[in-house]
Amino acid sequence: MLDNLLDPQVLLQPERDEAGRVVDFILVYANRAACEWLGVDVEHVHNARLREILTAIHTTDLVSLLIDTADTGRTMATNAFRVPRDSGSRWIDVRAVRVDGQISLAWRDVTEQRNVTRLLERRASTDDLTSLLNRKEAIERIDALTSRTGQRIAVLSCDIDWFKTVNDTHGHAAGDSVLQAVAERIRGSLRSGDDLAARIGGDELLVVLHGVRDLDDAVAVAEKLRRRAAEPIHTAVGPITVTLSIGVTLARLSENTDALLARADAAMYQAKNGGRNQVVGKKS
Ligand code: GH3
Ligand code: MG
Repeated sequence: MLDNLLDPQVLLQPERDEAGRVVDFILVYANRAACEWLGVDVEHVHNARLREILTAIHTTDLVSLLIDTADTGRTMATNAFRVPRDSGSRWIDVRAVRVDGQISLAWRDVTEQRNVTRLLERRASTDDLTSLLNRKEAIERIDALTSRTGQRIAVLSCDIDWFKTVNDTHGHAAGDSVLQAVAERIRGSLRSGDDLAARIGGDELLVVLHGVRDLDDAVAVAEKLRRRAAEPIHTAVGPITVTLSIGVTLARLSENTDALLARADAAMYQAKNGGRNQVVGKKS
């Protein structure tokens, strides 16, 4: 019955030193699925050491969890455990129980499900065209940041100037390339991993900066983005140049996200009205 189980299943005999400490595990039995998963022949498995069969396992916590089960009899149930392998990591849900001093260890490879879940999560939180965060995700993250005390964040509301004209003159596909290029430049200009960039509307991009000293500091970053965006973009129909109008503001402590974004937008519209291709900072 065990041989025909689809999930890998092995029986391990703890190997102890003179002091009684578990130093390794000997494979007393491995079913077919386990041999396939481990990439070993049935003949090679029996009485082999876990360390020899799965070298990489010794760099993970799994061994100490198995030792704990061997010593205490506590059942072990760990999900999404990463097993490093030469061919790339695998993710397994692991169960171990002690049976007559031996460990019955079973696992299920959940790598594919995990990849699909991560892909869906990424799709749900990012914009297809630019791969920046989408509006919903950006707002959720800003909500989380502003509700955390002591976080000084700046918001930059960026809108491409005369973008309809770009579409009308060069076509929608060229417009898409411009959006992608501007997004990439913005992403490349972020200073820390905590900063975030999102596409919150057609040609509206949002940047959130952490650790800014004051409004002038945030305006200086926005200026850098503005200059970088204004460099020619090479597209299939030739170079296209666009500019950005940027509104900048700092979040007040525990400020409502809608109010924060509205202030950044108001500053952006001021930049539009002031002749576009400029940065306007608005005090909070
Ligand atoms: P303004 O300087 O006032 O911002 O002028 P604008 O022409 O950029 O006007 P607005 O920002 O209101 O218009 C944004 C335009 O962006 C409208 C639409 O044609 C275009 N757009 C929105 N989404 C996409 C998209 O996914 N791809 C392309 N190519 N164009 C888009
Ligand atoms: Mg625009």
